[in-house]
Amino acid sequence: MVEVKLGAATATRVEESYEPNFDAKVFFPDWTAEIVREHGSWLSPNHYDEASGWLKLSIHSWLLKLGGKTILIDTCVGNHKSRKHRPKWDMMNTPYLDRLKAAGVTPDQVDMVMCTHLHVDHVGWNTRLENGRWVPTFKNARYVWSQEDFDFYQALDSDPQKGPANGGSFRDSVLPVVEMGKVQMVKGGAEIEDGLKVTPAPGHTPGTVRIELESKGQKALFCGDILHHAVQVYHPEWNSFACLDQDNARKSRRAAIEHCAGSGAMLLPCHFGAPFHCHIDHRKDPKGGAGFAPRFADNF
Ligand SMILES: [Zn+2]
Repeated sequence: MVEVKLGAATATRVEESYEPNFDAKVFFPDWTAEIVREHGSWLSPNHYDEASGWLKLSIHSWLLKLGGKTILIDTCVGNHKSRKHRPKWDMMNTPYLDRLKAAGVTPDQVDMVMCTHLHVDHVGWNTRLENGRWVPTFKNARYVWSQEDFDFYQALDSDPQKGPANGGSFRDSVLPVVEMGKVQMVKGGAEIEDGLKVTPAPGHTPGTVRIELESKGQKALFCGDILHHAVQVYHPEWNSFACLDQDNARKSRRAAIEHCAGSGAMLLPCHFGAPFHCHIDHRKDPKGGAGFAPRFADNF
């Protein structure tokens, strides 16, 4: 289990899945064989599966303990959910809640759930199936996400041409929590707890936020899907197939990278391969590129 100390806080990775799951060339339209030659030394095997040419994108939550509060950041795909659009995620049945328990937390002990955005792999465990109904998994938690994302996907979901939104996850993993009155919708930036704030980072989705932590002088940035893969630290201009607003996704990605490189904040993404988090250094790029490189913990 990966546990990171961040000042007086700790962040523990709770895994849902970690396997080759997306064809690199499909996921990143800019992917080339040259990238594998250039970055092969660190790409394989943790971040890329050479045999299949697929990316190894972890899907996990970060369990944050901060000032006596237990906070779960992003909630993966979830169990028993019909996701016909993506077979690997269809009717999943993983021991995610057992892993949460192994990290020392039962669902009832979670005080807050934060979703960086409302895509299918970030909202799934918001609910679980109980007697044929989707009910909040974390029944004592306040759920926090952006009003912008909710409004955007609600409009899309109710459009008969475009709905259901996000492979059905809006209906089974977002609306049931809203209907129970458990959601705090955030508009713009906001301080959520002492030392924990959300900042708008639109692009991947209209209401994507980044979550910034500061504790005893140590900083961390939970970036959701602002970056999916560590190769984007070298190529902040690379969008994934799932980024909705191409220009703003690039801007928000670059801003997150510059924030980490400039402040020393640790980057804690949702999908990077092992060791699942990194610092970001400025570097002199021999090809005159962006000039950033990930620095992974070397004791992993
Ligand atoms: Zn994602």
